[in-house]
Amino acid sequence: MSRAPDTPTYPDLEKPVQFLKGVGPKRADLLKKLGLLTARDVLYHVPHRYEDASTLQKIASLEPGMEASVVGRVVSKGVLPTRRGLRIFQAVVRDDTGLVECSWPGQPYLDRVIAKGDLLILRGPVKFFHGRQLQPREFVTLAREGEAAEEEGGTIFPVYPATEGLTHRQVRNLIAENLDDLLRGVPAEDVLEPEMIERAGVPPLARAIEAMHRPQSLVDAENGRRRLAFEEMFFLQILHAQSRHRATVERPGIAFERKDFLVRKLFKALPFELTGAQTRVLREIGADMASTRRMNRMLQGDVGSGKTVVALFAMLRALENGYQAALMAPTEILAEQHARTLLKLLGDLPVGVTLLTGRLGARQWREAVYRIASGGAGIAVGTHALIQDAVQFDRLGLVVVDEQHRFGVKQRMALSDMGKDADVLVMSATPIPRSLALTFYGDLDVSVLDERPPGRQPVRTALRDQSALPKVLAFVREQVQRGRQAYLVYPLVEESEKVELKSATEEYERLREVFPDLRLALIHGQMPGDEKDRVMRAFSAGETDVLVSTTVIEVGIDVPNATVMLIEHAERFGLSQLHQLRGRVGRGSDESYCILLTSGPEAAERLRIFAATEDGFKIAEADMRLRGYGDLFGARQSGLPTFRFADLEKDVELLRIAQGEARRIVELDPDLARHDRIRTALEARFGERARLFHVG
Ligand code: ADP
Ligand code: MG
Repeated sequence: MSRAPDTPTYPDLEKPVQFLKGVGPKRADLLKKLGLLTARDVLYHVPHRYEDASTLQKIASLEPGMEASVVGRVVSKGVLPTRRGLRIFQAVVRDDTGLVECSWPGQPYLDRVIAKGDLLILRGPVKFFHGRQLQPREFVTLAREGEAAEEEGGTIFPVYPATEGLTHRQVRNLIAENLDDLLRGVPAEDVLEPEMIERAGVPPLARAIEAMHRPQSLVDAENGRRRLAFEEMFFLQILHAQSRHRATVERPGIAFERKDFLVRKLFKALPFELTGAQTRVLREIGADMASTRRMNRMLQGDVGSGKTVVALFAMLRALENGYQAALMAPTEILAEQHARTLLKLLGDLPVGVTLLTGRLGARQWREAVYRIASGGAGIAVGTHALIQDAVQFDRLGLVVVDEQHRFGVKQRMALSDMGKDADVLVMSATPIPRSLALTFYGDLDVSVLDERPPGRQPVRTALRDQSALPKVLAFVREQVQRGRQAYLVYPLVEESEKVELKSATEEYERLREVFPDLRLALIHGQMPGDEKDRVMRAFSAGETDVLVSTTVIEVGIDVPNATVMLIEHAERFGLSQLHQLRGRVGRGSDESYCILLTSGPEAAERLRIFAATEDGFKIAEADMRLRGYGDLFGARQSGLPTFRFADLEKDVELLRIAQGEARRIVELDPDLARHDRIRTALEARFGERARLFHVG
């Protein structure tokens, strides 16, 4: 490509990479392997980390025991075999103060990567091994032999994702060479309004991209990342804000007045004081209910944090206003449990609770449906049976949905049609970090019960090696002999040849030999629903001593007499899942135990975090930190966008700002008719998905 001197070019960012300086057909193929097809792709191919040379040490100053970063040239290198068959790559590196031996045990292939004369940044511990030896955990090649090391002047080195045949150094050089041209292709008009960018405290787009590729400092690079992260989160929040707008504003709701005659009675009748968190959350719900907008709120709180009580207050408020309320649960057992809890809490308040599940006989069913249709049922509790066409409420004002994620998409849609203008309160016993709540439930308003009612006994949690199993089983027997019950949980249903895990089925057979005199039952995911139901009911009724199970008991049943939760291969479970399992015990007045059996030390760190706290939010945060948020939500949330730049651990505050900005814009201009740039960018970003998202 030739071009007249001094003629500024404004490269089209859509053009193929071949048109970039230093890219021929071969390079273009290699770039394609990295997913880089266009100039824009290259511009957005940002470093995955940085090396900061401002914290370098001089080689002469290295001492065994230090964690060191040095820059030096390779003066000699080679692979050494050891007696134990391990091959070690070694290189001697020099800077202007001296020499140091660097050693990479088990990485002989580095002999093909690192050449004599290379200028490297190396980072790792300094050991004492026939003198000082650096054992680099990381290294970056800054320049080859004879190559001018422009970086020797700079201090921050971007390290790019690379591929075979194209080193990160080559990627860096290629981008450095083209960056100024590419940046001229970035539209001067940022999609995000300058005021918004300022409120978020991030730089404008072109500056942000430049900062990521050519940072003046690590802070500079991080600010660049935050700008791109903000944009990413902002557009997702626009989608959320639009669905929220449709759910709350376009379908005006009921302005429930504050009458207080039932609510006050319940206050007086309760044998306990509400926690601070319950009071706060009730105020949030109360404000939603008083407004003419529909409430669309999620109530998050650990098992036992007192959600049902909160929901009951909200339902009474609807009743006082002459409306009905519905409480929907994912299983029959849970619906029955809720109905019982409500009746207990209501005491002798004049409020009818009608249960509607598939277990009712034909006549009872007809009666229940009639009570609901005639308005005689103030509160209806049920499964998805409640949303069948045949069930018509007289005057539904509030729908409470427990564990909504366990309902299917169709059921969720039916649900939102069920009470045309009814307020909706969704409850979830799966605490998730705030950033996840903002990301996944950005269309909802979220209330959090982060305080436990007083007087609950902590569950004693113990980590034991697999070899302690006989002792642990003796303990289970002892508990059963005292009249208590136990859960024994295994990760898989059937023995797999590859993974040596005990399966619940096989273990059940073995345990029957260990406990010939105890009443054992087995429950797992592959069982038909009514069979599961039967086993669960028997355990709940105390007809079974030990329930051998896979994780199907994860969310659900409340059996106060169960005091032992024994989890085998605990390392196979996520922390949040373990937390749900542990929540099955400690529900009565007796001391309860959660025992985690593990083999091998890998998981110990994670499990120790778990054993140390019962705070579901803390556990969820640790889980997210350790496993990433994708895993945390698993397949359940697949289909939701993942972020490229945003870091849900670091960017909570930015996420909150993005939600606020998106809601502000959508509030005034729901279809973005007056926000052309945002609308166009939104379509470019999500396209078809934006429309799908709107349906779900
Ligand atoms: P969740 O629905 O969040 O699992 P529940 O509402 O069922 O929790 O409450 C769990 C238990 O704690 C119930 O027995 C309930 O009566 C009791 N409870 C709820 N709130 C309080 C409180 N503020 N003080 C004492 N006990 C409470
Ligand atoms: Mg309302």
